[in-house]
Amino acid sequence: MSKRDYYETLGVGQDATVKEVKKAYKKMAMKYHPDRTQGDKVKEETFKEVKEAYEILNDDQKRAAYDQYGHAAFEQGGHGGGGGFGGGGGGFGQDFGDIFGDIFGGGGRGRQRQQRGSDLRYNVDLSLEDAVRGKTLEIKVPTFVGCKPCDGSGAKPGTSAKTCSTCHGHGQVQMRQGLFAVQQTCPTCSGKGKVIADKCTSCRGQGRVEKNKTLSVKIPPGVDTGDRIRLSGEGEAGEHGAPSGDLYVQVNVRDHGIFVRDENQLYCEVPISFVTAALGGDIEVPTLGGKVKLKVPKETQTGKMFRLRGKGVKSVRSSTTGDLMCKVVLETPVNLSGDQADLLRQLEEKMANSSKKHSPKETGFFDGVKKFFDDLKS
Ligand SMILES: [Zn+2]
Ligand SMILES: [Zn+2]
Repeated sequence: MSKRDYYETLGVGQDATVKEVKKAYKKMAMKYHPDRTQGDKVKEETFKEVKEAYEILNDDQKRAAYDQYGHAAFEQGGHGGGGGFGGGGGGFGQDFGDIFGDIFGGGGRGRQRQQRGSDLRYNVDLSLEDAVRGKTLEIKVPTFVGCKPCDGSGAKPGTSAKTCSTCHGHGQVQMRQGLFAVQQTCPTCSGKGKVIADKCTSCRGQGRVEKNKTLSVKIPPGVDTGDRIRLSGEGEAGEHGAPSGDLYVQVNVRDHGIFVRDENQLYCEVPISFVTAALGGDIEVPTLGGKVKLKVPKETQTGKMFRLRGKGVKSVRSSTTGDLMCKVVLETPVNLSGDQADLLRQLEEKMANSSKKHSPKETGFFDGVKKFFDDLKS
């Protein structure tokens, strides 16, 4: 089901002011709120849509995101591409009471709760080597930080916020609307209970400023794609000195040219000559810590897997270390000279005339083929 455009849902234009959005929502709420529709399911659905639209369009940041990305802005995963960031912690779609309470008086809600700042997500791409060894990264995060001059209060340094005289600090006022006495968010202080007479000039009364923050992030050894590192309190600062959100560094490990990783196990393929495979010998095998020697026993068949204990990845969660699984692949020689080819033919002839079997799979294979054709005939 495709979602309706939020502006359309609220019946306002794209250029609607915050006030117009609020007004449109109130009007819709009067008509569709479940308290007033006696269990009419259709109207209830409409109200859900209206409420959702209102929550997005009433929030500057969310509205900007919606204008840019449409509904996709609020879908799981957001729009944070590689190395970017996206607002974390959705928190949409709570039950009805919430915002409605602000308008009709949900029963003694009093002052609005201080809003903790948003969580942030930062995506980081790591090479396999960096993921295995760990790394300290410097990252730049666009975020809100607490305003220094006013210490987050939003009031001009030396002054402080005063209790709102309209609502006497309650954040809500009683209004008469026709027959009803309804409680409303205080228009003077927007529900905060306090007003700032002299606003701090650095943050224009917000108590926080937008800033690129540089952070040093310690990536522990052994992380893998999907792991995330939480930096407590490094998300966006809350408004008016409210606590900051957290910053989540989301790890993605890039593919490697040689190794394939499966949790703490590493896999690689190493070519061997057919002479080494037949006679046995030492070969060099790559590991993340450099080359190591591997003894290949004689009569090794192609595809054989060798386990190099402890040459995998050290787990980020325990003290165990994975293994390196090394698959040897027999290479057919190319560019043979006439002499070399002659030697091979001689070899083949000698093997054919010998009393011993030189091809362990051959007998079984041809028996199988014969049986296959016999079965077809019958
Ligand atoms: Zn300030
Ligand atoms: Zn007030």
